[in-house]
Amino acid sequence: ILLFGGFVGLLVAVAAGYYLANRALIPIRISLERQQQFVSDASHELRTPLSVIQAHGELLLRHPDHTIEQDSKHISVVLQETRRMSKLVGGLLTLARSDSNQLELDKRAVQLDRIVQDSVGKMQMLAEVKEIILNAETEASVPMTGDEERLHQLLTALLDNAIKYTPEGGVVRVGCRKLAHTAVLEIEDTGIGIAAEHLPHVFDRFYRADKARTRQEGGTGLGLAIAKWIVDRHGGKLRVESKLGVGTRVVVTLPLSG
Ligand code: ADP
Repeated sequence: ILLFGGFVGLLVAVAAGYYLANRALIPIRISLERQQQFVSDASHELRTPLSVIQAHGELLLRHPDHTIEQDSKHISVVLQETRRMSKLVGGLLTLARSDSNQLELDKRAVQLDRIVQDSVGKMQMLAEVKEIILNAETEASVPMTGDEERLHQLLTALLDNAIKYTPEGGVVRVGCRKLAHTAVLEIEDTGIGIAAEHLPHVFDRFYRADKARTRQEGGTGLGLAIAKWIVDRHGGKLRVESKLGVGTRVVVTLPLSG
């Protein structure tokens, strides 16, 4: 009986050990799978502009007799795809560094309203080209502790999306105000909107609600993933509300200083 009891005990211990080890391995396996997916998606994303560059380069070589005017179409595609790749590589580096916790934020006392005004000013030209009205309403003095460069990057990504996905003649409104102990930043557009089924995925890396359209607009599918990372690292929250064909509103809440 003693021997049998010992044997059962051993079996139970082995089974429990196996179960616990397996449970402990699950997060590692998930993170490994995520990493593999990321590398595969990134390679795929880089391959597309590379093939386009290669094709247009070959066309250029095939017609040495062409004038510069005739060649300029191919050259401008090569430049456009090179810019896309450079944006993509920049985004990939940011995310890879943030994954391995290599990116330290340089947090100081900043005024969010100034960063908003500054970013809106820089994007004004882009809006004008599409005859989009870009308005900012900011409360005076919205103090917080943050990384100025990253907050600029956040604003640029959100404004870039709002302008990119709003047809000509639309409106983009930006608001920045204090509410209790938080700073509330809102970017609202009268653009194409996002269908309900896509909304939960827009923060996923490389996710695009409309692949053809975003490629045409020069999107990388990394903007919102990076925006979310910046907001998370500032202890804030980011949410997207949208209605297809009506528009999108992005709301960011960040802790105020003091
Ligand atoms: P992208 O570089 O493709 O714009 P993002 O990560 O910034 O990538 O956004 C992910 C997807 O969410 C976009 O491809 C687009 O489909 C959708 N999206 C983001 N912002 C908006 C917006 N303001 N209006 C409509 N769709 C948007």
